[in-house]
Amino acid sequence: MPERGLLIVFSGPSGVGKGTVRAAIFESSQHQFDYSVSMTTRQQRPGEVDGKDYFFTTREAFEEKIKSGQMLEYAEYVGNYYGTPLEYVNQTLDQGKDVFLEIEVQGALQVKEKVPDGVFIFLTPPDLDELRGRLSGRGTDSLAVINERMEKAREEIKLMSEYDYAVVNDEVHLAVERVKKIVEAEHFRVDRVIGRYQNMVDVAAHNIG
Ligand code: 5GP
Repeated sequence: MPERGLLIVFSGPSGVGKGTVRAAIFESSQHQFDYSVSMTTRQQRPGEVDGKDYFFTTREAFEEKIKSGQMLEYAEYVGNYYGTPLEYVNQTLDQGKDVFLEIEVQGALQVKEKVPDGVFIFLTPPDLDELRGRLSGRGTDSLAVINERMEKAREEIKLMSEYDYAVVNDEVHLAVERVKKIVEAEHFRVDRVIGRYQNMVDVAAHNIG
């Protein structure tokens, strides 16, 4: 049986650029992991593809999946459900491949409870002024909504202590490289590989004896 893959949880406050960094990671020719497509009840945006960007579904169907234990995690964000279907994650990890989740902070904390040996990466803004600039730059939210999101971001940044790594998103290509290096290094951690070496030593001892 192959060694189980790593579960990489990529998260961070609203507006920090998680989606952009994630897309850049998956567009670059070399990435070592599979993306877990989330399920959501929000409206499909122009250009989004069902089954690629998200699995778009109804509230009823989503709630049914929660009830029957088919979601690894889920959260309600701005009036819509978002969640990670469990089956794909389990099957892919069992095949020995790494799985990459891009999710908001509440969902990430649920995964931490269930899969403590996941790799938890927090994407941070260079500073809060920059974050405010990005939220205003989207041009979609009123000042009141921006202030609300900033307050939420401040709360979320405090939760950074629950994560293993903080990656600053000063420039997208730099953030992408940092994430890739973290995943590469995680594969060399002794607690992840020691089982393999123990087997080797045991087989060698058996052959000698
Ligand atoms: P958007 O509507 O802009 O695509 O996503 C809104 C927020 O939901 C983003 O912060 C995104 O990271 C988060 N998100 C996307 N998929 C999931 C998921 O499966 N679970 C959780 N908890 N959050 C998600």
